[in-house]
Amino acid sequence: MSHLSIPISFEFFPPKTQAGQDKLLGVRDQLAKAQPDFFSVTYGAGGSTQDGTLQTVLALRESGVDAAPHMSCIGASREELRSLLNTYKENNIKRLVALRGDLPSGMGMGGELRFANELVSFIREEFGQDFIIEVAAYPEAHPQAPSFEADLENFVRKCQAGADSAITQYFFNADAYFYFMDRVRALGVDIPVIPGIMPITNYTKLARFSDACGAEIPRYIRKQLEAYGDDSESIQQFGEEVISRLCQQLLDGGAPGIHFYTLNQAAPSLNILNNLR
Ligand code: FAD
Repeated sequence: MSHLSIPISFEFFPPKTQAGQDKLLGVRDQLAKAQPDFFSVTYGAGGSTQDGTLQTVLALRESGVDAAPHMSCIGASREELRSLLNTYKENNIKRLVALRGDLPSGMGMGGELRFANELVSFIREEFGQDFIIEVAAYPEAHPQAPSFEADLENFVRKCQAGADSAITQYFFNADAYFYFMDRVRALGVDIPVIPGIMPITNYTKLARFSDACGAEIPRYIRKQLEAYGDDSESIQQFGEEVISRLCQQLLDGGAPGIHFYTLNQAAPSLNILNNLR
């Protein structure tokens, strides 16, 4: 447990280069000192990083902190999913982040399971309680959802299929999280929903990511970041202040933990954590 006495988790992606690989273990060791509950590692639907996910999970786990692979069902057959889950079981992996995933453009849809709730059901049917299952939540609604209400119903379906806990897409408006929580609690969801937090370190990348995943950047943040231009020190300082305030607001309002999208960097998440009461 972290100094905040609530569960903290840190998300990584499988490094794509040797330099990234070399840096990973140092970042892991720095983040392990914050005593997180677990690390998690993303998974690329449709190719590229799939083997990297398991390798990265194993490397992170050597620090003594539990590590959870993300897995997605889009584009995969039941047999492929079963085989991957068996590999995870053989490697004594206890926790998964179960997602639909997104295929790279041009790869169509494919696969035998269409949505994450079907993946959760599949894991429970075939593997019982062998894994702790985390699912994704979208306080500002998933970008492809026909409506906010339909997305809420989808989230509830995922929970009813057997999810143990959820991690949100990142967001910058605490109210979106609190409203989402009020709504899902009223619909009978009682699992922890952990806010996913994206530290701000680079404006161009953040703007591109946020458009793709449907996270709204409030105007005052956008204007400030635009004004800083190439001044990365000011961007980081402002980013740390804004995100620390967001986290404190979430914790004060009852959020049960924090999941950091670290992008394989230690300092931005650790600086924010150090600012929290
Ligand atoms: P779902 O819950 O299946 O929802 C997808 C869309 O379908 C939503 O719009 C939903 O409203 C709709 N929907 C769901 N069920 C139904 C239904 N029965 N009928 C009609 N519509 C339905 N992506 C990766 O590729 N790799 C990763 O490692 C990864 N990690 C992530 C970690 C977190 C914490 C989060 C929040 C996201 C992550 N993503 C990752 C992104 C995620 O894969 C995408 O957001 C993806 O588009 C949706 O995945 P999901 O599991 O939320 O899908």
